[in-house]
Amino acid sequence: TKKLAAAHAEGRPTYSFEYFPPKTAQGVQNLYDRMDRMHSFGPAFIDVTWGAGGRMSHLTTEMVKVAQSAYGLETCMHLTCTDMEKEKIDNGLREAYQAGCTNILALRGDPPREKEKWEQTEGTAFRYARDLIKYIKSKYGSHFDIGVAGYPEGCDEETDADAHIPFLKEKIDAGGTFIVTQMSYDADIFIAWVKKCRDAGIPDSVPIIPGIMPIQTYDSFLRRATWTQCRIPPDWMKALEPVKGDDAAVREVGKGLVADFCRKLLDSGVTMHLHFYTMNLAASTQMVLEELAVTPATNSHDPSIKPLPWRQSLG
Ligand code: FAD
Repeated sequence: TKKLAAAHAEGRPTYSFEYFPPKTAQGVQNLYDRMDRMHSFGPAFIDVTWGAGGRMSHLTTEMVKVAQSAYGLETCMHLTCTDMEKEKIDNGLREAYQAGCTNILALRGDPPREKEKWEQTEGTAFRYARDLIKYIKSKYGSHFDIGVAGYPEGCDEETDADAHIPFLKEKIDAGGTFIVTQMSYDADIFIAWVKKCRDAGIPDSVPIIPGIMPIQTYDSFLRRATWTQCRIPPDWMKALEPVKGDDAAVREVGKGLVADFCRKLLDSGVTMHLHFYTMNLAASTQMVLEELAVTPATNSHDPSIKPLPWRQSLG
């Protein structure tokens, strides 16, 4: 967060990319190639997800090690509580520490695949993200910057976002230093929610980072939005419906919609950082970043429109 603050003090927005461990060895190689290419887009950091119950966690820690030491990327490792014994948590933290990683996103975790709702099982060390944060602090002091998840539109069966804010505050009080949110497409909802978080006592020094899912295909867009309970503004449906059968056209229209959402957030002053759920793909994220390189004016060929300062780092 210190590095982000330094960039933001100079008026430079920053961004980051999330990846997940692929299922096959070929998938891993492809992802490393893509991460290498996406490194040139200039992310402030990347993060790597943690499978429910520690599934594929060896790959998460390996990816963190490669990204951190081989690619020299600032890396954030996700770590979860669901069905995780203390030993697994200790191993994950030790590997992150040894890899030189200094950022952990501490989460409760998704329920294991087959289960709808997670109940704490015997042997599981922690029930809530808050408990994991306290544990990390007790073992590693201030070595790790600890991020936490926030939900502008609710989470689990509790769809009232306000009901989660006291628990979000608890996570910050326990030692969380930044918040990354569930994906969102409605700027008004996001901005109003950030204000509520601040009113609830979450200090301005704790960045609230919007999670942004670039649009790849119409079906995956709808599926993800439904799954995460995120509202799709009606004009988005109007713009995407007519081209839904044409993936390239969906990406093209989608990049404009998502970039517009990002601009609204940046202009509102609630955030200076954008976090992209890349789904391990480069194209849609790159398209949004390129679209953001111009001011809100529609004509990108207008010579009076200056690129955002951070665009220069994209080359
Ligand atoms: P918590 O903050 O622990 O909250 C869990 C639930 O309990 C919430 O409903 C909350 O309101 C409630 N609660 C919290 N504290 C209390 C309390 N003291 N008393 C009563 N109720 C309480 N999942 C993965 O498995 N792997 C990942 O890598 C991963 N990455 C994610 C990244 C981001 C940015 C986000 C937003 C989510 C991610 N998730 C991931 C999903 C996340 O783990 C789930 O959404 C999970 O259901 C909630 O996690 P949490 O950390 O917010 O949990």
